[in-house]
Amino acid sequence: MSDFLPYAYLNGQFVPFEEAKISVATHALHYGTAALGGLRGLPNPANPKEILLFRLEDHCRRLSRSAYYLGYELPTSEIKARIIEWVQKNQPRVPFYIRPLVYTSGLGIAPRLHDIEKDFLIYGLPLGDYLAATGVTCRISSWQRQCDRSFPLRGKLTTSYIVSALAKTEAVSSGFDEAILLNEQGKVCEATGMNLFLVREGQLITPSVDQDILEGITRRSVIELAQAAGVKVMERPVDRTELLIADEVFLTGTAARIVPVSRIETYTLPSDRPLTLQLQKQLQAIVEGREPQYRHWVDVIPL
Ligand code: PMP
Repeated sequence: MSDFLPYAYLNGQFVPFEEAKISVATHALHYGTAALGGLRGLPNPANPKEILLFRLEDHCRRLSRSAYYLGYELPTSEIKARIIEWVQKNQPRVPFYIRPLVYTSGLGIAPRLHDIEKDFLIYGLPLGDYLAATGVTCRISSWQRQCDRSFPLRGKLTTSYIVSALAKTEAVSSGFDEAILLNEQGKVCEATGMNLFLVREGQLITPSVDQDILEGITRRSVIELAQAAGVKVMERPVDRTELLIADEVFLTGTAARIVPVSRIETYTLPSDRPLTLQLQKQLQAIVEGREPQYRHWVDVIPL
């Protein structure tokens, strides 16, 4: 099991990853009644006895709110404390990814959120930093992003990932790297696990939070960084055809941070991407704790 960090947190205890098992009858497995988080951490390049976690509080708050949609009161402070303990227990030596999950852990059938036990687990795996320098190719998915009336899209509920999975596989099997999903109104939403930005004439544009997007933490960080650099940022609905006349398009998410898009369907984007590169470089410096101005975005965990 060398692909995972040695300890998981399950049923209120830390156990070796190989022993962290759940029943085949686990309710969430059958009904998608779960919510996940995803954070990145890395040993502090300036002090290997410390771990840096990017925007820990924000990730824990989002998971706490997602849990609330499932009828589970799990305070942000509780999630944060367990994640810090999990990091200290695992003593990671390389960059890694943390996956907390809140789920209906009771056994039994019939979809519901009442009268069913819930639990919270954590595990993680090494995950190196990568910069997709050449960019990814995207197709516009034939699958539509769910709408907020179908379920709470502001929560990171596992249920929504069936559409991501269908769209990703459709994209890859038709020769693209990634998919861009449109919403019910035909407006641009996001990729399968990343938010989307475009640049037009030096301005940054991204679908607004009323466009059925996940409210990404990297997205919010990029907006704040661009604004601080004097770039005008517009959060508004985006038409599909606007992507095809963009100067730059990039995707944002915790795992990959900022990924340039090189082609959308048959439209090849310019290979010159000044704003994407500037934001990529700055975000990387921040996560590595090299930007004193943004140290408040980075929690330092002593090992
Ligand atoms: N949209 C979806 C559907 C995602 O799964 C993710 C990854 N969590 C994102 C956007 C990006 O969010 P964040 O920057 O918080 O990782």
